[in-house]
Amino acid sequence: MNFPLPQALRSLTPNVHAWLPDGHATWGMANCVVVTGRHAGSGAALLVDTPYTADMTRHLQQLIAALGEGKGTSEGKRDDDDGSAARPDIRTVVNTHGNGDHSYSNGLFPGAEIIATDANGEHLCAEPSPAALAGLIAGSDPDTAFGAYVKRHFGRYGDFGGVPVVRPNRTFSGELDLDVDGVAVRLIEVGPAHTAGDLIVHLPEEGVVCAGDVLFNEDHPVHWAGPLEAVHRACVRILDCAPRVVVPGHGPVMTPADVRRYADYVWDLRAAVHRGHAAGRPLPVLAAELIAEDPYPHWGLPERMAVLAAIEYRALDGVTERPDLVGLLAFAAGFAHDRVSGTAAGSVPARSSG
Ligand SMILES: [Zn+2]
Repeated sequence: MNFPLPQALRSLTPNVHAWLPDGHATWGMANCVVVTGRHAGSGAALLVDTPYTADMTRHLQQLIAALGEGKGTSEGKRDDDDGSAARPDIRTVVNTHGNGDHSYSNGLFPGAEIIATDANGEHLCAEPSPAALAGLIAGSDPDTAFGAYVKRHFGRYGDFGGVPVVRPNRTFSGELDLDVDGVAVRLIEVGPAHTAGDLIVHLPEEGVVCAGDVLFNEDHPVHWAGPLEAVHRACVRILDCAPRVVVPGHGPVMTPADVRRYADYVWDLRAAVHRGHAAGRPLPVLAAELIAEDPYPHWGLPERMAVLAAIEYRALDGVTERPDLVGLLAFAAGFAHDRVSGTAAGSVPARSSG
């Protein structure tokens, strides 16, 4: 790995430990959350999302193992820990959704129950496999906007090899209640929003919600399903849980006020896209305008607003076929290239905008 990873888990409560890689202004560095049980001797543990690559996952697994020794967190040994805690055993993995940066390493938790929504299967039909993504990175021309973009943002992860693709083996619709040795965990379906099959993880007694990629912090969000009204509704559902702390899919942990601000951004952007659509603005023109008028210039990846505009145009145009994720990524990459070189932005993504 040629990039830094967290040297410790951050304990949000005595039972909830977040792995928060620094992924500002890049793709793929997703957060994971470990939930441990109430009794030190049980070892029962649940993991929310698995990292992009085997190397990242082994790094996370070392920190999880160290939790059993009273180490592995930025807070160090717990006051109530007498040193006899069992090594946490990840018996349950939850995929908040099916993007590879949240699920490619499911296979490195053999024997675990892997839970996602029923609707997540719909997204998995569109998500590139690790081998397909590696092939896309290796085979794209770095002299094109798209090739340069995928090499810059995804090339660092190598060939995504060494991990068998393992899909969820338990699915549900609506809500599902779990118990991790006395810690209540409620899975709540909120998709389609970021993808067709999103869920959030609510830990009511801990005051924590793991939001998956409904939320990005300090970067512009990308959403593949939408429409943006559904993303906004998912944000409201998170706030309805009255959490103390919210873990986004990417970026630092958030407060409820941060979530409200993000929801307002999504709503304002939706209004701007609807105005553009009503005025007959071609999608590439509107996307370029949104990026030029970026309301959050300190956030990374403003070119993702092109994807948000494209999914909203799809909804407004009544397009129901499955989105072309690579086409949407290429559409965004054209605007990133545009910002660097001043050349014309990319064309409308094939099959993505109707
Ligand atoms: Zn993600």
